[in-house]
Amino acid sequence: MDAATITTPAVLILLGPPGAGKGTQARMLEEKFGLIQLSTGDLLREAVAAGTEAGLAAKAVMEAGDLVSDDIVIAILRDRMAQPDCAKGVILDGFPRTTVQAEALDDLLESNNQKINAAISLEVEDAEMVVRISGRYTCAGCGEGYHDTFKKPAEDGKCDKCGHTEFKRRADDNAETVASRLAAYHAQTAPLITYYEGHGVLQRTNAMGKIEDIARDLEEIVGRAMK
Ligand code: AMP
Repeated sequence: MDAATITTPAVLILLGPPGAGKGTQARMLEEKFGLIQLSTGDLLREAVAAGTEAGLAAKAVMEAGDLVSDDIVIAILRDRMAQPDCAKGVILDGFPRTTVQAEALDDLLESNNQKINAAISLEVEDAEMVVRISGRYTCAGCGEGYHDTFKKPAEDGKCDKCGHTEFKRRADDNAETVASRLAAYHAQTAPLITYYEGHGVLQRTNAMGKIEDIARDLEEIVGRAMK
């Protein structure tokens, strides 16, 4: 399927450093607004697990906490956006992460007469990110996110959503890699805040509080942006 067949009605972007809660919040917005969460991190992890050419090229880069090349990420995102379920509208989680990616997204959307409804910056402090990332894990069955301190399953060792009893932690969620990922964010991704401000679509939200409070603020922003 090529870019010309993409019919995405709403395009939302979640911007923020690793651990800001983009994935958690994107999943909640997905349910609330019937949108599709597109996480380039998840797509890359799938490619690594499947051993594709892109996955093989990305593996070591991801383990080091650096950014995968724009060409690879843009190609993966473009393919995923061309799939029919994205016609419901998408929440981009972890993409774009560089100006080159932001420009590629603009071109892709323009060729389909689409635009970005909102780019939402989740504003947090670096010190908090390290605490959040080092305690997080997900259900191996449904991908629901948990945290050693902030969000434990109601019943110890059992996923609240699907009842699965196995959980997994990401290889790159360790103290050393987190430092590289934060550095990559500040050097290459944070400038996108100014980029989207210049395009008149930037929304900022304080993402330091409780998951439910941040979710409520985001629902309001997204509700307005989709009108
Ligand atoms: P995430 O799950 O969004 O934290 O991404 C995990 C890792 O995948 C990142 O540290 C990068 O190595 C890679 N990655 C994910 N999205 C992108 C992107 N848009 N551009 C470059 N690398 C990415």
